[in-house]
Amino acid sequence: MDCGSDKVIYMDNNATTRIAPEVVDAMMPFLTDCYGNPSSMHTFGGQIGRAVEEARKQIGDLIGADPAEIVFTSCGTESDSTAILSALQTFPEQRHVLTTRVEHPAVKSLCENLGQLTGHKHRVTRLMVEADGTLDMDRYREALSEDTAIVSVMWANNETGVIFPVEEMAAMARERGILFHTDAVQAVGKIPINLKENQIDFLSLSGHKLHAPKGVGVLYVRKGTPFVPFLNGGHQEGGRRGGTENVASIIALGRACELAGENLAEENSRVKALRDKLEKGLLTSIPKSILNGHPTDRLPNTTNVSFEYVEGEAILLHMNQYNICASSGSACTSGSLEPSHVLRAMGVPFTAAHGSIRFSLSVYNTEEEVDFVLEKMPAIIANLRAMSPFWKDDE
Ligand SMILES: *Cc1c(COP(=O)(O)O)cnc(C)c1O
Repeated sequence: MDCGSDKVIYMDNNATTRIAPEVVDAMMPFLTDCYGNPSSMHTFGGQIGRAVEEARKQIGDLIGADPAEIVFTSCGTESDSTAILSALQTFPEQRHVLTTRVEHPAVKSLCENLGQLTGHKHRVTRLMVEADGTLDMDRYREALSEDTAIVSVMWANNETGVIFPVEEMAAMARERGILFHTDAVQAVGKIPINLKENQIDFLSLSGHKLHAPKGVGVLYVRKGTPFVPFLNGGHQEGGRRGGTENVASIIALGRACELAGENLAEENSRVKALRDKLEKGLLTSIPKSILNGHPTDRLPNTTNVSFEYVEGEAILLHMNQYNICASSGSACTSGSLEPSHVLRAMGVPFTAAHGSIRFSLSVYNTEEEVDFVLEKMPAIIANLRAMSPFWKDDE
C-alpha cells in the first residue's frame, strides 16, 4: 500500500510517530529468523530472552530506572489501568482516587468505570485546572485524604503539552503514605526524566509515541511498591504480566529509548525552536488566534492554537489538501461534536474551543515544513471565516 508518507507534512506526533529507521533495523531480525520464545530452555530461545533484557536496560537508562522495575505491557492504556487497579486491590478499604480533569481517556474513562471494574463504590476527585492548563497545588494538597489509595496525574498533557509538577506532587503523596502514578506517555523522550530522583511509584509509557511501533508499552513499578498483576498467566515479567512477550516490539522500544536519549538535546533546542517559530508565526499572522496552555511550562514539541469562529474539523480538511497533518482536540474525542474535555476544563470559550488545532512536531520536521504551514494557514482561516455567519471582518 502506498500511503503517501513521503508527501505529508506530519505535525501530529502526539497522536503517533513514525517508527525510526534505526528502530526498524533493530526489530527486523525478531520478525524473521529470531523467532524463539524468550522463556524456552534451549539456546535458540534463550538468546531472545537476553535481547529482551538488553531492551529493558535501554529503557531503564532513559528514565533512571533499574531493569527490574520495567514491566512490558501491550500499550500505554494497559499500563495506566494496571497501575490504578493494582493500587485499589492493594488497599481495598481505601476508596478514594485523586486525578485531574485533563487526563487522557486511558485514565479518565477508567476512573469513570471503577465501580463496574472493582465492584466497589469509589470516590473520584478530578482536580480542576487553571485557564492556562496548570494545577493549583493548594487544591491538590487539600484533596489528598486519609482514604486515598492512589493519585494519578499525567506528566504532560497530550493536547496542550502543559507539564505538571508530578515530582513535587509524588513527594506530597509519599508523605501521607499514598501511592502515586503518572501517565508519562507524552513526556518520555521529550523532557529529561530520572526516577532515581523522585518518589513516583508507577509510570506509564508507550512505544508509538516515541518512534517505536504501536502495541507495546511499559509500566515502571518502583522497587518495593506493592503490585497486583492485571493479566494473570505464565511467569513472564517476573509474574507481573502474563502473556508471551511481544519480542520484536520490545526490542524496538529499547532501541527507540536509546535514540530518544541521544535526541533529547535536539528535541529541546532545534525542535523547540521550530515549534516556537510556528506558534509565533500563527499568532502574529492570524487575527483572533489564541494560544491554549501555559506559555513555558510545556513540552518542547507541542502547540495548541485556537482560531476563533471557525471549526477545527473544517480547518483540518483544508490543511489536508496540502497534506499537512495535525489534530483538533484529542484524536479519541474527534468524531463527537463536543469540544475537547481538556479545553473545557481550562474554560476556553466555545467559539475558541471548537476552532483549536494541535500541532505536535518531532525531530523529523524541518524549517521548510514550518515555513510552508505558515504560508498556507492564514488564507485557510480567512476563507473559512468569510463563510462563517459569526465572523465579522471589523472585529
Ligand atoms: C497516547 C496516549 C496514551 C495511550 O497510549 P496507547 O499506547 O495508545 O494505549 C495514554 N496517555 C497519553 C497521555 C497518551 O498520549
